[in-house]
Amino acid sequence: MLGIETTCDETAAAVVARDSDGKGRILSNVVRSQTDEHALYGGVVPEIAARAHVDMLDHLIDAAMREAGLDYAALGGVAAAAGPGLIGGVIVGLTTAKAIALVHDTPLIAVNHLEAHALTPRLTDAIDFPYCLFLASGGHTQIVAVAGVGDYIRLGTTVDDAMGEAFDKVAKMLGLPYPGGPQVEQAARNGDAARFAFPRPMQGRSDANFSLSGLKTAVRNEIGRMESVGEQDTADLCASFQAAVLESTADRLRVGLDLFKQRFGAPTALVAAGGVAANQAIRGALDDVAQAAGTRLIMPPPALCTDNGAMIAWAGLERLALGLVDGMDATPRARWLLDANASVPGKFAN
Ligand code: ATP
Ligand code: MG
Ligand code: FE
Repeated sequence: MLGIETTCDETAAAVVARDSDGKGRILSNVVRSQTDEHALYGGVVPEIAARAHVDMLDHLIDAAMREAGLDYAALGGVAAAAGPGLIGGVIVGLTTAKAIALVHDTPLIAVNHLEAHALTPRLTDAIDFPYCLFLASGGHTQIVAVAGVGDYIRLGTTVDDAMGEAFDKVAKMLGLPYPGGPQVEQAARNGDAARFAFPRPMQGRSDANFSLSGLKTAVRNEIGRMESVGEQDTADLCASFQAAVLESTADRLRVGLDLFKQRFGAPTALVAAGGVAANQAIRGALDDVAQAAGTRLIMPPPALCTDNGAMIAWAGLERLALGLVDGMDATPRARWLLDANASVPGKFAN
């Protein structure tokens, strides 16, 4: 399965095989990040992103096929992220996938980018349904019961900013380069997490929702009170911010796992995915939560947490195995809820 990812600022293509025992095997996984194009603006500029996808995608697909040592005729299908994301980029990826499917007479699978994040742990670990997913990325922060392929029930979500977005905004306030998540994590390593007493949003609430904008504002206010922000101040601010995120996340996940057990019984695992799951400190915090809940923690390696083509190819393989194939009328979607057909629709879009 060829997988194509163009929903944000990563142009990516990958080839993934599914062995007879059901396990995934990554034959190639090529990612080109557009960091340089957007760095000047401190964030992703949609039109620049779309043009960069047009420039790069053909070359990346070619590279992925060559690295996999495959001819197009050998493909069992082509999958593209059809949303949610920046619509210009989504159109580039989906249209390219349609062309390949038509020319090489192979099935097209239009994948939900969030579903791909959600299923990635099954690419690397033999994990059965139902599992409890913590999805934290640039645009989303959710606790989801993954009951099967295409069967997702949202248990909690952010009521304001996404977690990755909060990391990016804090980095921007501190003058750290884009993208900010890894920068904040790096700076926090040398910082004192106890220096600033930032709020632990939603702590103790009986629902499993998140909130991050108040915490972000608390960091901004603290910076505003300082005469100048030196290197140690930056490290301490990052460490204190990250500690607040970790504690709040652990608290929200404890509630989420309880809600999960009440509705679905014991999960096979607690699974974390999405760009924020690349954060090593978060990994440690989640380990404790999983242990306390009597389950195990599974996290894809960092390179499969941030956007990539392998996760799209894998979601394509999972859907193809169930006969879920799309036609040439598949539409690119800027918004696309993961649990659009769920029995209990969530209140918030994030
Ligand atoms: P979505 O998946 O919601 O559509 P996206 O695809 O842009 O959004 P991802 O690529 O999955 O998001 O993740 C990128 C986000 O993850 C960014 O906000 C980035 O700052 C954050 N991130 C990446 N690495 C880390 C890290 N080490 N610590 C914290 N955040 C991180
Ligand atoms: Mg990105
Ligand atoms: Fe993503």
